[in-house]
Amino acid sequence: MSAISPTLGARGGSSNDQLRRYNLSMVMTLIHHSGGCSRADITRRMGLNRSTVGALVAELVELGLAFEGEPESVVGRVGRPSARVYPNPDIVALAVYPDIDAITVCIVGLGGEVIRRIRYDTVRVPTVHETVNVVKAIVDGMRGEIDTSFRVAGVGVAVPGLVSSKDGRVLIAPHLGWRDTALASAVSKALDFPVFAGNDASLGAIAESLFGIARGMDDLVYLNGSASGIGGGLIIGGSPLRGTSGYAGELGHTLVNSAGARCHCGRTGCLETEVSLSRLLAVLKLPRADQDELEIALGVSRDPKVMREVHRQIDMLSEAISNFVNMFDPEIVILGGFLASLLSVGRERLADAVRSSSMSSVGRGLVIEKASLRSRIVMVGAAELAFAGLLDDPAAFARGTAAGGIAPRA
Ligand SMILES: [Zn+2]
Repeated sequence: MSAISPTLGARGGSSNDQLRRYNLSMVMTLIHHSGGCSRADITRRMGLNRSTVGALVAELVELGLAFEGEPESVVGRVGRPSARVYPNPDIVALAVYPDIDAITVCIVGLGGEVIRRIRYDTVRVPTVHETVNVVKAIVDGMRGEIDTSFRVAGVGVAVPGLVSSKDGRVLIAPHLGWRDTALASAVSKALDFPVFAGNDASLGAIAESLFGIARGMDDLVYLNGSASGIGGGLIIGGSPLRGTSGYAGELGHTLVNSAGARCHCGRTGCLETEVSLSRLLAVLKLPRADQDELEIALGVSRDPKVMREVHRQIDMLSEAISNFVNMFDPEIVILGGFLASLLSVGRERLADAVRSSSMSSVGRGLVIEKASLRSRIVMVGAAELAFAGLLDDPAAFARGTAAGGIAPRA
């Protein structure tokens, strides 16, 4: 991260205004993504002098977007300690995640903390209409708390499907059975907040790169395995890979077995038909299992059938990962959901296979790791959509909500 010179400002106002707005945005973003940092960190990271950083921090505090905490005590350090600056967690986003068996709504504070989580189990795969009604009922139930304790920056909806980045329309969400539906505008109408929508795995990749195990890394591949299949998200050169309409990253439909099973997408031998939770549950003779339960069941099983299936799935997964490594040269491949359970029981087999089938110079330094944000991951990523405007122009955000009185946290 670095500050820009006045001549590079692109928005309206004098170049000094533009510079100040830009630097305010950078400081706010740094505070939010670090969950709090010292003025000294900000000074170092932004390459600005201390008094400029002091003024920017004071403005964010004045705007009610940040607060300064106790000075950090560092043993052995000489001189005045640097105060820590934290994002105001009372500024929140609502994160919404409709899936095949549940609709989850979270309140996520600035800084990425999940403050409240409500999961509504559905009796069947929810329609768009049912989803909007359930989300409205949940938010109405929290309305008192929201109105008295929080300022809502907006709503981020994560969808297991193809979502247009331009208008939040869902082109197709195969497992939900949704097709060409104006999801973001329906939710916005019901809740009366600005609403943004994105693909769940792409949002997961963003969350891990900002708050999780890939913090500070510019190139990553994220693969999430759930009951509805395998989703993927890519961060390339520090930016999420979106494609023309926001549909990029359908990594679950990578060919891994030309003699494999038919996929719902119409092709044969896709990653998500060959590497699947239902096939693992079938050999384990379990009706269902979450990530931890699956990991334990796979870890203790001595059944040769289970071992064969685990090895088969790890080999297929390594085939796909090798392709992604050759294509994108990532620093890290992050596995979530049941793929993280597979990694736990077959880490060496997977790493060896990826190493041997990637171009040797590319696969050598690769890290393959489990997602670190676990059940928070998609919600934190969805909230990031809603925080984008605030981070882009903190003063404009604060002005827009000033009537409601954003009080700095004591
Ligand atoms: Zn497919």
